[in-house]
Amino acid sequence: MSEVHQNTSVKLPKNTSQKSTVDVVVVGGGIVGKACALGLAQLGLQTIQIAPDLGQSVPAPQGNQWGQRIYAFSPGTQKLLSYLQIWDAIDHSRLQPVRDMRIFGDRGEKHDQLHLSAFEAGTPQLAWIGEANLIEHTLDQASRFQNKLERISDTVNTMKVDSDGVILHLKNGSTLEAQLVVAADGANSPIRTELGISTKEESYSQSAVVANWICTNAHLETAYQWFLAGGDIVAMLPLPNKQVSMVWSTSPEHAAKLLQLDEAAWSQTFSSIANGAITEQLGDLTLNSVPATFPLRRISASRFIGPDENPKVALIGDAAHVIHPLAGQGLNLGLRDVATLLNTLSKRESFRLLNDKILLRRYERQRQGDTSAILWVTDRLKKLFSASSATEKQLRNWGLGLVNRSHFIKRRLIERALGDIDLE
Ligand SMILES: Cc1cc2nc3c(=O)[nH]c(=O)nc-3n(C[C@H](O)[C@H](O)[C@H](O)COP(=O)(O)OP(=O)(O)OC[C@H]3O[C@@H](n4cnc5c(N)ncnc54)[C@H](O)[C@@H]3O)c2cc1C
Repeated sequence: MSEVHQNTSVKLPKNTSQKSTVDVVVVGGGIVGKACALGLAQLGLQTIQIAPDLGQSVPAPQGNQWGQRIYAFSPGTQKLLSYLQIWDAIDHSRLQPVRDMRIFGDRGEKHDQLHLSAFEAGTPQLAWIGEANLIEHTLDQASRFQNKLERISDTVNTMKVDSDGVILHLKNGSTLEAQLVVAADGANSPIRTELGISTKEESYSQSAVVANWICTNAHLETAYQWFLAGGDIVAMLPLPNKQVSMVWSTSPEHAAKLLQLDEAAWSQTFSSIANGAITEQLGDLTLNSVPATFPLRRISASRFIGPDENPKVALIGDAAHVIHPLAGQGLNLGLRDVATLLNTLSKRESFRLLNDKILLRRYERQRQGDTSAILWVTDRLKKLFSASSATEKQLRNWGLGLVNRSHFIKRRLIERALGDIDLE
């Protein structure tokens, strides 16, 4: 039986034969789905959110044990969370501003590095680093008080699009009808599949090993990234209390080996890679979480809305695009989808329904440009740094130094990283 997490003015079916009609149904309970459902309800739209994991609020992270999923949040994301009125409610003692980013090439030469600085760019910070469950908890708290939002802990079984809207059949047997469905159901999006939207997919044949460490040296509010020979990438993102969050992209076989290391072996590993630069920068590292691993791939959906003749569905977040974490942009990109969708719907002409084809096309057009640019850049960077020929090796390392000397390119890179969004 599905669990109803929040009850308000929307009346849900009490038994399986009843049907409930609302403005929008958001499918998916990740950060992107939660932010979108909250934002739609704040616009005054009767919204239902469905996901199998909505039965209980995510507990607030507490104490010295930090969450396993750590993200870099762009200032654009900060702007969206402020618009949703949750940024100030987040426990800021668990958020780390990033003032500098330092990216190192794989030749071990001093000049093969790119330095991006918030001070030089005239911005207070380049990003924030924090726990996924910190944001999810705050979104859950805000959603509890939003009387236009109903949450159902269940799974969508099947979906039918007709001329009026979309009919969703849930696993518990009940049926929902909505003008518009927003698919935030993740990388394997069942809704995307049901609509027959094709995707371009590519496995990077890499996994990311993530873990949090306490370091003896100050991290100087700097996010570090080392490209290593052979295509591995090690990022160390600063966290409060002299901690760093590691994202090490490597082959699945090596990832499995890294998960087995004890503290002494980790310490030896850190001092032997990147010519010892990691230990030199951060000092001794003590593990402060259970390491975990995630497979890495690239996915881009051919459409961000349902089929032309009858769209009525918008894809957001990983349902529309999955990128390599080397730029820490996947979630930020998904939250930009949310901002654009909210903007498009709130500014619609009074005669347009929420599922108007022209409206949905506006959303798709705006998001496809930004997404393909980020997908292209992260994919090219990943491949350039995995290539083994001497020419490519020289090119990438020389390129880092060259970009570093160009204020113009650095400015453009920072603008991309800040990920500004248009919200009124
Ligand atoms: C190692 C790693 C590091 C990363 N670091 C960063 C970073 O620093 N910054 C950043 O911006 N991004 C980062 N990302 C990317 C980020 O993790 C994802 O882009 C983001 O989590 C996607 O969120 P989402 O809500 O779209 O999807 P998900 O979090 O996958 O949520 C999908 C939801 O849909 C639900 N669902 C699925 N099927 C159904 C169904 N049939 N019915 C109902 N519900 C359903 C699921 O239960 C789930 O709740 C990283 C990714 C990795 C792998």
